[in-house]
Amino acid sequence: MMHASVHARRLSATAFACGACLILLPPGPAQAFSGGNHEKITRAALTWEPRSLTAMADSRDGAIVADDQGDYFKLGILHCDNADFLASRFTSASAYPRTRDEANTELLACIRGSVARLRAAVRYADGLVDPQGRVIARQSDLGSPCTWNERAGRAKCNVLEQLGRGWHPIEDFYSHSNWSDQAGAGPIGTDNPPGLNRTGIAPFLDIRRYSSMKDADWTKEAAGLIPEDLATGCYPDFESTGVKTADCTGRVEHNRTLNKDTEAARRSGHGNFQRATELAAQDIARQWKDFTAELIATYPDNGRGEQMICALTHDTPALSCPRGR
Ligand SMILES: [Zn+2]
Repeated sequence: MMHASVHARRLSATAFACGACLILLPPGPAQAFSGGNHEKITRAALTWEPRSLTAMADSRDGAIVADDQGDYFKLGILHCDNADFLASRFTSASAYPRTRDEANTELLACIRGSVARLRAAVRYADGLVDPQGRVIARQSDLGSPCTWNERAGRAKCNVLEQLGRGWHPIEDFYSHSNWSDQAGAGPIGTDNPPGLNRTGIAPFLDIRRYSSMKDADWTKEAAGLIPEDLATGCYPDFESTGVKTADCTGRVEHNRTLNKDTEAARRSGHGNFQRATELAAQDIARQWKDFTAELIATYPDNGRGEQMICALTHDTPALSCPRGR
C-alpha cells in the first residue's frame, strides 16, 4: 500500500540519525500504505516463528515490501493502481476518460502478477525438502538475510520472495481501491468516488484457483466478479499496462483522493483505514492457507508438502521438522 515508502524510509533514516534536525526535513509523503502498515498487516495474517516472519514482514527489509523498492515501485500493476473508473451516472457532461474494460484490464494485470508469483513459489518450494521428505538444512537457513533480487538462492528465500512479491499487490488492493470504503459526504464524483462498503475479502483475488486455470478462463471468471463501481486510483508517472500515466486529470486519483495508505489520508475516515487493513490481513491469511493447500496437493509423496510448510514457518526447520512427525 504504500507507495513512496522508499522516500519515507530515507526520511525516517535521516530523522533517526539526527532527531533534532527533524523540523528541517520536508514533510513526508502522505500517500504511502507505509512499510509499517504492510508489516502490521502481514504479521496479523501469519503465525510463523520470529525470524521467518520478520523475513517476510519487516517494514524495510521484508519480502512483502520488495515491490515498493527500486524500479518495482513505479510499476502500477504491482500495486493494483490505475484501475480507476466512474460510471456515467456519476459523471456530468463528459464521459469518464477510461472505460470499465480498461479498468478491468489493469486490475486483471495486477491479479495475473500474483498468479505467476504463486506458481513460481510452488516450484521453488521443491528445493526445500529432499525426495524422502527430509528438510534440507542449507536450503532453509536464515543465518544471513535473504536478498530480494529475483536471483535463485536458498530455496526458502526464493519462496518467500515470490510470496512477498505476489502478496504485496493484494495488500495494496484494499488500501488503493474503494472495495471496503464508504464515500465522503457530498456528491459522488472523481473527487469523491462511490464506496462499495464490502465487509469480506474480494472473490476475484482467488489466486490459487486461477493458478490452475488457463489465462483466458480465469480472466473471464474474475472480470465477471468485478463490481461495476470498483475503482483503484490513478497514479501519475506510474507505468500501467503498456503506457505511462503522465497525468491523472479528470480521473479518480490515488494521491489526492482514494488511498488509505495512512490513517491520516483523506479517504481513511469512516473506519475506511481500519477496514482496509483488516481485510488485507484476512486476505493474506487466505492466500497463505491456499498456498499451503497447493503445496500439499502438488507434493504428496513422503509428506513433502507438509515438510515444505514446516520449513517455511520454522526458524530452524532441520531440528523442528523431523521426518514423520
Ligand atoms: Zn505498493
